[in-house]
Amino acid sequence: MKIEVLGCSGGKTKDANLPSFLIENKFLFDCGSVCSVLPLERQLEIDSVFLSHSHFDHVCDLPFLVDNFSIAGKKLKVYASQETITTLKEYVFNGKIWPDFTEIPDAESPSLKFVKVNLGESILLGEYKIDFFRVFHTKGSIGFIVWKGEKSIAYTADTYRSDGLWRDLVNLGVKSVITECSFPEERKDLSKISNHLSTHDFREEIKKMNGFENIFVFHTKPHYRKKIEEELKGLNVKILKDGDVFEV
Ligand SMILES: [Zn+2]
Ligand SMILES: [Zn+2]
Repeated sequence: MKIEVLGCSGGKTKDANLPSFLIENKFLFDCGSVCSVLPLERQLEIDSVFLSHSHFDHVCDLPFLVDNFSIAGKKLKVYASQETITTLKEYVFNGKIWPDFTEIPDAESPSLKFVKVNLGESILLGEYKIDFFRVFHTKGSIGFIVWKGEKSIAYTADTYRSDGLWRDLVNLGVKSVITECSFPEERKDLSKISNHLSTHDFREEIKKMNGFENIFVFHTKPHYRKKIEEELKGLNVKILKDGDVFEV
């Protein structure tokens, strides 16, 4: 299963793209940087978007992606929790910040269709299955697992520490996970109040991650990228970079 890292940073600069992961050219996990990275033709090949939560770094390219779909006469399906859908409809697709594409060109067959997903639910899309699980960030934040036969990868998106999360994923047979580390040890207090992992937290969490073959780290804050790399040195993890392409 092919994973393309369009963006994996927890902040935006000229050299740091916001989170977006393209799976098998067709599923997009979070929508932070898709339009600034992919040419139009490849954007229009996307089948479905999955949003972990409504924070701006994970949704900020969605208005532009939907606009591109709409002009091309295509429909975009966006899977998210009820909380995320409600927030985006109220604060983004409200006719003020951006047009309400759930009613354009008409409400029967709109350019943007939100699909509510529930924790513990699975959906089947051709030969793929997507599962949704709880993470510890904001109310309504969710993670995803995409399965293609026995192959799978889980994406926690933003999350704070958890006891059951890693065990549950391993018990499901997940071998690869993309999870976050946003701050170095010196900012562990900020990490805690913003429900992110610091390197201090990460070193504690990884003790519970037995059973994964691949642990990928994303969401490093640009200010601290080098420091996070130093502080995670020696752990069996790969810190992702924008533009990485890998198979699981
Ligand atoms: Zn967030
Ligand atoms: Zn984030």
